[in-house]
Amino acid sequence: MAVISRSFYYLFIPALMTIVFIVASQYFIDIWRHWMPVIGELPFYLLPIAAILALQFNCSRLSFLATLLLIYTLYEQGFIVEHQLTLDFAEPIFLSGTLLITLFAISSDRALLSVHTAKTLASIILCFIIGFTWTMLMTKAGMLADNQSLSSSSLLTAIYVPVGLASAAICFYAVWRASGIDSTIAVTLFIWLYNYYQPGELPLALLISMLAVTYLLAILTQSYHLAYRDDLTGLSSRRALNTMALSLNSHYSVAMVDIDHFKKFNDTYGHDVGDQVLRLVAGKLSQVKGGGKVYRYGGEEFTIVFPNKDAESILPLLENLRSEVSHYNIVLRHEQRKKSSKEYRKGSAANQSKTVNVTISIGVAEHHGDRTFNQTIKLADKALYVAKKNGRNRVHA
Ligand code: GH3
Ligand code: MG
Ligand code: MG
Repeated sequence: MAVISRSFYYLFIPALMTIVFIVASQYFIDIWRHWMPVIGELPFYLLPIAAILALQFNCSRLSFLATLLLIYTLYEQGFIVEHQLTLDFAEPIFLSGTLLITLFAISSDRALLSVHTAKTLASIILCFIIGFTWTMLMTKAGMLADNQSLSSSSLLTAIYVPVGLASAAICFYAVWRASGIDSTIAVTLFIWLYNYYQPGELPLALLISMLAVTYLLAILTQSYHLAYRDDLTGLSSRRALNTMALSLNSHYSVAMVDIDHFKKFNDTYGHDVGDQVLRLVAGKLSQVKGGGKVYRYGGEEFTIVFPNKDAESILPLLENLRSEVSHYNIVLRHEQRKKSSKEYRKGSAANQSKTVNVTISIGVAEHHGDRTFNQTIKLADKALYVAKKNGRNRVHA
């Protein structure tokens, strides 16, 4: 998926949903107000569930955030210290929280039982130290300048700078990485700012519950991707193909696509360049017309399923794909060529960029009668074998 469309999918939709939720909550206040006793307890169920599930699916950042939010909710509701104290520490805790969200926005998910957990815990403590020290210094600086207690509005200005910088960093990472988990962390920032700058507008328990639901959705999406998406190419996986096959009606066609001489390509240019080529070919295949859905079947093989299409009608589309891939010039960067031992030994002009091409062969089969999906795939595979035998870089039905 291109970065723009990924950002749209992972960033724009969660942001829009959050805003819709806040507006709807304000609008329908009379409805949910009666449920406040229940809503007040929701974070204590939802956050631990989110924290545990997040660990199960390798989303350690969400697990840490859910745990910290749980501690914060307990603190805000007076379970940890006297309620009076929570007001005194409002600014340093707000700043520390913002720094913590930034920490998780710019770091990566790591295994819990690793040295990284110790580093994360140390970083969490550091965020609190910075948050508290900064607000203390700002308060002192304000006291010195005015010779009186710092007014809350100037303290507000004093924390604008770090909060502004942190927010910019979080937004940048969310757009750059464009993943469900990263946009969830950006949503956490939004709710955190909203709760601080619009105090009492919506109860904390409602906002935190909404956030916990967002975490659960992000974890479910992540687990779906782990199961049904191929990591390297971003295409749907073979498992997704098998699941989709159950929903096909009796009218469809299947194309098996295989990159030609890919073993030799890997041997010549290295496995990393091979991976890059797999991504490029996957990207080209994804542009197929005619409602074709592309899957990575395994290795350098792909499957395209065309629901409600006969073989004849998809041949021109596949011929187009074949031609596009074969004419696509893959630029090898200097470092990549260095890695390629054969190329390097040749000692060809090292600074000139070099382009290479790959070709694909395609076998096509149409579903008939009471053939199973697997039998149709096998027929497409046989057609692919013929395409290979006839000289490769061709489509055979
Ligand atoms: P043919 O034209 O007959 O298909 O020849 P081929 O060399 O493409 O076929 P073969 O099945 O002998 O080799 C497939 C190669 O694909 C072997 C392996 O190195 C490469 N390959 C499979 N999966 C990956 C991958 O994920 N990354 C990279 N870089 N290469 C892969
Ligand atoms: Mg193969
Ligand atoms: Mg091959």
